[in-house]
Amino acid sequence: MTTKVSEKITNNLAEIRQQLQILAEESQHGQSVKLLAVSKKHSLDAIKAAIAAGQMHFGENYVQEAVDKITQLKEHIPDPVQWHFIGPIQSNKTKDIAQNFDWVQSVEREKIARRLNEQRPDSLEQLNILLQVNIDDDDNKSGLAPEQVEELAEYVMSCSKLKLRGLMTILKAGTTEEQRKQSFQHMFRLYEQLQQTCGEQIDTLSMGMSGDMRQAVLEGANMVRIGTAIFGERES
Ligand SMILES: *Cc1c(COP(=O)(O)O)cnc(C)c1O
Repeated sequence: MTTKVSEKITNNLAEIRQQLQILAEESQHGQSVKLLAVSKKHSLDAIKAAIAAGQMHFGENYVQEAVDKITQLKEHIPDPVQWHFIGPIQSNKTKDIAQNFDWVQSVEREKIARRLNEQRPDSLEQLNILLQVNIDDDDNKSGLAPEQVEELAEYVMSCSKLKLRGLMTILKAGTTEEQRKQSFQHMFRLYEQLQQTCGEQIDTLSMGMSGDMRQAVLEGANMVRIGTAIFGERES
């Protein structure tokens, strides 16, 4: 990786952190916002550049790609980088996820939660869990319907190797600003309800990507998942 590319990543991160701080001050919710760097399809060198710039949380979507990166980075970097799995989960991949990740943001079925709980090694801390909500009923996306959140939340709370932390959503593409606002506000209400039923451990509302980060934070997101605006376009 050229110095120029790694400088670009450093600058992008600094700029996004600054934007997040300004947005959080503008927001009515008084939250501080965590930045998840989505590094899927980006190189190990790109991730190293982000780590050198102080980035600690990374999101990956593809199990094999992620496990390769995590394994290689562990040999070089002893820092406590946290890995978040954010892609769709097939049940034959839960073991690799349970063994390698710190967070899973895309839990939407009891079967997956049960397997993650059974397969999380005793030597590791509890696996942090977000439930993925399909808030705008998008056929192209996975996720729970809003009315299913409570039941799955109860199940995850009963799993000793899992720690429920909150909710995640990806909005439907091509909607209007007003529709996005409605969806983000609906997510915020669900998040508040979950806090009421499950208590203080519910501290994470993951919503907003490169294209809709601003609106998500104004409506209460306290984690945004940013790929393109940090690392540039992905090869498809
Ligand atoms: C790829 C991805 C992102 C990042 O998207 P960008 O538009 O590149 O910021 C965020 N969340 C999820 C679940 C993703 O799959």
